[in-house]
Amino acid sequence: MPSRQWPNILITGTPGTGKTTHAAQLVEALQSSPSTSSATWEHVNVGDFVKEKGCHSGFNEEWQSWDVDEDKLLDELELVQQAGAKVIDWHTCDLFPERWIDLVLVLRCDHSQLWARLEKRGYQLNKIQENNEAEIMEVVLNDARESYAAEIVVEMQSEKPEDMEQNIERIVSWVQAWRADYGGDDDGDDEP
Ligand code: ADP
Repeated sequence: MPSRQWPNILITGTPGTGKTTHAAQLVEALQSSPSTSSATWEHVNVGDFVKEKGCHSGFNEEWQSWDVDEDKLLDELELVQQAGAKVIDWHTCDLFPERWIDLVLVLRCDHSQLWARLEKRGYQLNKIQENNEAEIMEVVLNDARESYAAEIVVEMQSEKPEDMEQNIERIVSWVQAWRADYGGDDDGDDEP
């Protein structure tokens, strides 16, 4: 049983599947729902966090991304995740210790739609191809299933705005249930 009063949620998936959009909307929904608003929900965009905290060894021109210093990233995130109520948004999931994470959402998207999203984002062809192939091969989903208990890994479609709405509703209900099961008393002061 986790020692946190509120769960940590990992939103993962191939770049372009909708992690950042989901995470931002989820935090807004949790912060405004009466049963979950006593926590301070925070969207941890790990890409931005890596840059802000300098958890990298430089910029990789070929892949147009930062080479992540995983040890430093884990040290920095260890402090952040302790309080719970974090929505962590990152395109890989096998890095984080199991004890940090209460729910893993793997977003999925049709590969031709994903191609169009990444093209629109201005990604180089090699990066679009690599990500497209990863989505077809279900790389992130397989990594999630290998890294976490089956019952906390949930695959979610992210192709249309209605998918997102339904996903957010589902996750808010899950957080309410988690809080009822593990979150202690419900007077909002986070004291046991
Ligand atoms: P990621 O964080 O996984 O890289 P983003 O959240 O930045 O992905 O989304 C990539 C693009 O796809 C954005 O333009 C976003 O609006 C769009 N998008 C993501 N999910 C959906 C969805 N379920 N329905 C419609 N558009 C979506």
